[in-house]
Amino acid sequence: MRNEEFVPFFQPVVALRTGEVAGVEVLARWQHANLGVVPPGVFIPIAEQDGLIGGVTAMLMAKAFAAAAMLPDPQWLALNVSPHLLRDLAFPKRIREAAEAVAFPLNRVVIEITESALLENLDHAQTISRELKAQGCRLALDDFGTGYSSLLHLQSLPFDELKVDRSFVGSMTERRESRKIVSAVVGLGQSLGMETIAEGVETEEQVEMLLLLGCDMGQGWLFGKPVPAEQLCDATIPRPPVKLRLTSSCWRDISWNSPPGQRLSHLQGLYEGAPAGLAFLSPDLRYVSINQQLAEMHDTPVQEHLGRLVSEIIPVLYPQIEPHLRRALAGDSVTAVEITQPATERRGAQTFLVSYLPAFDEAGEVVGISVAIVDITPRKRAEAALRESEDHYRHMVELNPQIPWVLDDKGMATMISPRWQQITGMSEEDSRGRGFINALHPEDRERVTEVIERSLRTAEPIDVECRMRTSGGEWRWIRSRGAPRRDETGRIIRWYGSADDIDAHKRLEDELRRRADEGRIPRSESD
Ligand code: C2E
Ligand code: CA
Ligand code: CA
Repeated sequence: MRNEEFVPFFQPVVALRTGEVAGVEVLARWQHANLGVVPPGVFIPIAEQDGLIGGVTAMLMAKAFAAAAMLPDPQWLALNVSPHLLRDLAFPKRIREAAEAVAFPLNRVVIEITESALLENLDHAQTISRELKAQGCRLALDDFGTGYSSLLHLQSLPFDELKVDRSFVGSMTERRESRKIVSAVVGLGQSLGMETIAEGVETEEQVEMLLLLGCDMGQGWLFGKPVPAEQLCDATIPRPPVKLRLTSSCWRDISWNSPPGQRLSHLQGLYEGAPAGLAFLSPDLRYVSINQQLAEMHDTPVQEHLGRLVSEIIPVLYPQIEPHLRRALAGDSVTAVEITQPATERRGAQTFLVSYLPAFDEAGEVVGISVAIVDITPRKRAEAALRESEDHYRHMVELNPQIPWVLDDKGMATMISPRWQQITGMSEEDSRGRGFINALHPEDRERVTEVIERSLRTAEPIDVECRMRTSGGEWRWIRSRGAPRRDETGRIIRWYGSADDIDAHKRLEDELRRRADEGRIPRSESD
């Protein structure tokens, strides 16, 4: 004590959903000249026995508060209090004085009490904790689940936080029993309006499971080991929140048979990252919870949904969805229904794909509906646009003196203008695929096929002249040209083109060539 060898170390407590540091816990260390760093499990019991614990604690508090002056608001400082000190009625005053000495606000002080402390003298503990509360401090019940008569203590003192002992957290990903205990403790904390802190968090898998169980905060090596005052600054930097990967083993056999309130908080953990709109409705069709994505689809903030009827929030859509909601309330799973919202002043018509799943309690009663919504408007629009352009095309085709055609990405004809049928007498069915080739002059067939194949390979426009047989049995020259059409990824999906009758032109050209050869007309260079 004379050498001031007792020093505080600090360990961050992290809000699991955001990764933000909520506060730090002070953990005692004895920096002994010869022994090195002595852990509290060794020297605290000795200090308690020898009646030195008051002095040790005072030293630690003074140093801890001095360091904590640099903690950003609203991060809190949590102190462990020995059961011995809970007998000392002057203890709240000591805390107050230590905090006030460095102007650290008392409402950012948390006092951690273990259950064994309460066993010794509940009357004193009650008086002291009431006083601590009165001066603004918060109370945490430490190592919950390891002591005796926990439930008695939980109700006899005004705790704000519940710390789940690390022995359960450490084994929860392997042992079903531990998981159930953590789940039950978190549920208990929630129903009593307390925040829950999981101790000894070492892996991301534990965080995933804790999020699913609805636990608020975590503390452990994953977020940071206890560090001396010089490193306190680094310890309070926010961590990136752990992402729910939905692949972790914790999903496979988690027990969902928990009370509805808790089940909601399981869902809450999944809510914010989901690529869909999600909500949970009570049996009287009010929003119990809703995620940001869905709130945005409704153009209404999350907070304004809670407790209000679906019919109030989306009156226009309600008549469309009410039958589905009724079915879900009757216990049916309603999946993948399309809901269309008419255009409003603010946005165009929208289409949603929606599922309504009933949630059951242990007795098999429907306790609510979970809603999942995906906005499929962009997909619908793309489909409609494609249909429209094809309709448009077909329309043009029927009026056109040319012979429009469409080939698919393999060069197979999917559409040839009715004019083709009129001219060649070949049925539409016979012309499909590569059938149209049969209406061409036998000398031209191979060349035309080659031209098509080359364009499929090179994506160069199709341009080919050939002879086509008319229903009257004569051969006419046509020139067929087409260009590829691509989807948004650049892949060719179709070829659009048309054939023109160039027979007259071709004959004239032949005639000219013939005469030129006979020397009657000089051939031009470009010919
Ligand atoms: P605690 O209050 O439950 O403190 C948490 C203990 O868990 C700390 O051990 C901490 O270093 C350790 N811990 C933190 N994260 C992890 C983790 O991810 N994995 C594992 N395996 N352990 C982790 P530490 O510092 O040895 O403290 C032991 C106990 O000593 C504390 O348990 C607390 O009950 C007591 N203690 C510590 N400082 C004080 C103090 O200033 N006064 C009193 N009266 N008791 C103290
Ligand atoms: Ca503690
Ligand atoms: Ca603890």
